[in-house]
Amino acid sequence: MTPNTDRNIALFERAKLVIPGGVNSPVRAFKAVGGTPRFVTRAEGAYFWDANGQRYIDYIGSWGPMILGHGHPAVVKAVQDAVLEGFSYGAPTEREVELAEEILRLVPSMDMVRLVSSGTEAAMSAIRLARGATGRSKLIKFEGCYHGHADALLVKAGSGLATFGNPTSAGVPAEVVQHTLVLEFNNLEQLEEAFALHGPELACLMMEPIAGNMNFVRASVPFVKRCRELCSQHGALLIFDEVMTGFRVALGSAQSVYARDLPGFEPDITVMGKVIGGGMPLAAFGARRHIMNFLAPLGAVYQAGTLSGNPVATACGLATLREIQKPGFFDELSRKSRLLIDGLTQAAKTEGVAFCGDSEGGMFGFFLFDQLPQNYAKVMTTDNARFNQLFHGLLDRGVYIAPALYEAGFMSAAHTDADIATTVAAGHALFKQLGQA
Ligand SMILES: *Cc1c(COP(=O)(O)O)cnc(C)c1O
Repeated sequence: MTPNTDRNIALFERAKLVIPGGVNSPVRAFKAVGGTPRFVTRAEGAYFWDANGQRYIDYIGSWGPMILGHGHPAVVKAVQDAVLEGFSYGAPTEREVELAEEILRLVPSMDMVRLVSSGTEAAMSAIRLARGATGRSKLIKFEGCYHGHADALLVKAGSGLATFGNPTSAGVPAEVVQHTLVLEFNNLEQLEEAFALHGPELACLMMEPIAGNMNFVRASVPFVKRCRELCSQHGALLIFDEVMTGFRVALGSAQSVYARDLPGFEPDITVMGKVIGGGMPLAAFGARRHIMNFLAPLGAVYQAGTLSGNPVATACGLATLREIQKPGFFDELSRKSRLLIDGLTQAAKTEGVAFCGDSEGGMFGFFLFDQLPQNYAKVMTTDNARFNQLFHGLLDRGVYIAPALYEAGFMSAAHTDADIATTVAAGHALFKQLGQA
């Protein structure tokens, strides 16, 4: 296809004139991998089609929400019915209560939940709640964990532990991140030191339990255990950001995965998003009643939203949550994620290419390494050129993975074993090239 007939190129040029970088969220721009973003015209099941009519097997699924695949009939019906009843009222509805009840039943560490419209909003509000509930200001986050783009969270590690972080974005004043302490993920020593230095001032520790914003890096069980112990000991709140992992890695979310090894384990505050909206703008944060009582209108921590608990979004989320509770849903999803990772690992081995991967439920990640990385610094040592060769090779063969090496992949209920076999075969052809390079 020449540039003159490539509709993706034409649309990208047009988009760049009216939208900064041509996209409404930066990673969509393909800046890390080069080339032209695919403009999507429609999606169905495990596939989407771009503006040239080219079909792709979709392992992004809107960055996580589309756990049932695109256009699941029960979800489409629920949304269509909801739309006919009105788009938004700015007044409470029974469906919000139903969705809240459903979330709390599945994730029992929360007694109450507040619905919002994006993961960013949920994470930002969870921190305000933690600060309001503890009367403290400081917080811990980990390098490589993403919690949305609230000012206080756009921060990277400073020069030492006693100093606080530096903004990662222009427009964030240094004072705004001066209370945010950034530590290395899975580093017990730094964790101990941070609590020893700042324990009494810490409002909360926020973490992605299985970090999907540095590809796929699990917090080790001893690390999560120690985070829990230190928070309890020092009166800080443990916040699990499950925007990506919630209802994605297991029906009980990542906290239920850790509770297998740590009986009785629970975070103090949970942040949800992505899957709970089934592809509509919906997110949530929740906790035990005594913490949620701090939230307006009950308490002094202010939080609000014109479109919060939107009736169409809640219909979409409820229908999605009902489907994922069907018997065997997560067993099948897990099996397919493992089938993909095992297939790719075997193919890479055959061609002598360093490769490893991991998965939990419908979330997976892989690396051009021999061993799974434990933190962001290691993930960032990936050979960019080789990753980009793999990315573009897959794209050319009709397989769509995240256009950046620090993003997880997502399996859906709609992916078939044949789709996975096609993906593994494409991967194998590319490993052959990489092995000769
Ligand atoms: C996607 C994501 C967010 C941000 O959610 P948005 O809906 O994009 O604002 C926050 N935390 C984690 C772990 C995420 O994966």
